[in-house]
Amino acid sequence: MNIILLGPPGAGKGTQAQRLQTDLGMIQLSTGDMLRAAVKSGSALGQQAKGIMEAGKLVPDELMVSLIEDRIAQPDCAKGFILDGFPRTEAQAVALDKMLAKTGKKLDEVIEMEVDEKALTERIVGRFTCAKCGTGYHDKFKRPKVDGVCDVCGSKEFTRRKDDNAETMKTRMAAYRAQTEPLLPYYRAKGVLKKVDGMAAMDEVYRQIRAVLARA
Ligand code: AMP
Repeated sequence: MNIILLGPPGAGKGTQAQRLQTDLGMIQLSTGDMLRAAVKSGSALGQQAKGIMEAGKLVPDELMVSLIEDRIAQPDCAKGFILDGFPRTEAQAVALDKMLAKTGKKLDEVIEMEVDEKALTERIVGRFTCAKCGTGYHDKFKRPKVDGVCDVCGSKEFTRRKDDNAETMKTRMAAYRAQTEPLLPYYRAKGVLKKVDGMAAMDEVYRQIRAVLARA
């Protein structure tokens, strides 16, 4: 099964995608994670993307489309994938349709994570991840059981994203509203859009997503 998780920054797409990957073996394709890895490695893509990401703007469509096209063609994606952070513009959605048609794959569900915008900045500004295993935490909503120690791998190193601050969040939200929100009617018209309550507790959101997938 191939699905898209759609929603603004802080909606919980990454958290839910990770859990689906663990439980169902589908592959999480997070374009944000791919770009952050490219920035870290200093590749040409990373150099192009760094400033754009720090400003909270969108990386050009051509770069994003070729990144996803290469990744989807890899053998592990045959098990099914979860797109997390892609597509973010109508041009990316159209390119995705074409690449899926070309490779005989199909999009099974697009799941909108509906959230209250007011809560997003608080969610974003407090989040941090284990530098070693990538487990996500939050200053207020999900602290490690022992302060400063990762519950999963015991590491004491954590990282915070440079773009997870209130100022950049304004630009990221504006980009979402102007460029990504129009994908909702795009997918509704194709009959693949389903909605879950992204404001519910994490386990409940997950339950709702699994219910959508069970009906697919
Ligand atoms: P995310 O981790 O999904 O919040 O993405 C972090 C940043 O990476 C975004 O604010 C954009 O600058 C960039 N980015 C990620 N995915 C895309 C995409 N599909 N199109 C354009 N820019 C993207």
